[in-house]
Amino acid sequence: MGKEASGLGFWGTVFATVLAAGFLAVWSGVWGWAVGIAGRFWVHLGGTLLVPVWLLYVLGACALAIVVLAAAVAVAAVTTPQEPEWKSYTRDNFFGGEWRWRYDGNQISGLFARCPVCKTALVYREEGYAFLREEERIILSCERCRRDVVNERGRHVGLLGAVTRQIERNIDTAEWPGAKGEGEAKR
Ligand SMILES: [Zn+2]
Repeated sequence: MGKEASGLGFWGTVFATVLAAGFLAVWSGVWGWAVGIAGRFWVHLGGTLLVPVWLLYVLGACALAIVVLAAAVAVAAVTTPQEPEWKSYTRDNFFGGEWRWRYDGNQISGLFARCPVCKTALVYREEGYAFLREEERIILSCERCRRDVVNERGRHVGLLGAVTRQIERNIDTAEWPGAKGEGEAKR
C-alpha cells in the first residue's frame, strides 16, 4: 500500500517538478521579454529626434488651432443666451377656444383660436352695433362642428387683447401649463 503510494508520489513529484520548471522557464522568458521591451521604450523616450522645421510648424499650428477651437466653444457655451422657458408656452384655452400663438422677440404674435374638439381654425363674426344701442358680441365658430365655440361681449380686436392679457398674466405668474417654479416672475 505504502510502496504504491510512494511510487505514485515519486512520479507525481517528478511530474510536478517538470511542470514547475517549465512554467518557471516560460514565465521568466515572458518577464525578460517584457522588461526588455519596457527598457527599450524608455531609451526611445529619452532619445532625440531630427524633425524638419516645417513639420514642427505644422504640428504647432495644429496644437494652436485645437486650443483656439476649445476656447471658442467654451466662450460660446457661456455667452449664448438660453431661450427662456416661457417661450415653450404657445397654446392654452381661454373663453372656450383653444388658442395658439408664437413669439416675435418677447411679443406674442400670430394669435388665433382653434376648435378644442376638431382643431379647425375658428372663423369670427361680429354681431350687434353700439350705434343702434345693441350689445356688441364677438363669436368664433367652427365650420366643421357647426357650432359657436366662443361667444363674448365686444369686438374681435378686443377679444384678441383679452386673450393676450391672459397669456401675459400666466407668463408673469408662471401659472401656464408646464411652468416650473410657480409664482416666480419670468420676465
Ligand atoms: Zn370643431
